[in-house]
Amino acid sequence: MNWLQKIMTPRARAQNNIGKGKVPEGVWEKCGGCAAVLYRPELERNLMVCPKCGHHHYIEARMRLNALPRHRSPPAKKTR
Ligand SMILES: [Zn+2]
Repeated sequence: MNWLQKIMTPRARAQNNIGKGKVPEGVWEKCGGCAAVLYRPELERNLMVCPKCGHHHYIEARMRLNALPRHRSPPAKKTR
């Protein structure tokens, strides 16, 4: 206990502890298909598709564009 915690009232001390050890917001995502709790960075690596049931989660436009191939193949020649 440091000097600041010593001079705080027990109530203020308790309020200060709220949120400690709490998981950061947005790290875990619940699957809408199988209700599994998924680790968000892993879900993003899998292009927002649940690895357990294949349920497709909402994907942001920027992420979707980044998932597309970077280089376009040249247009196909007309065969007429
Ligand atoms: Zn799932």
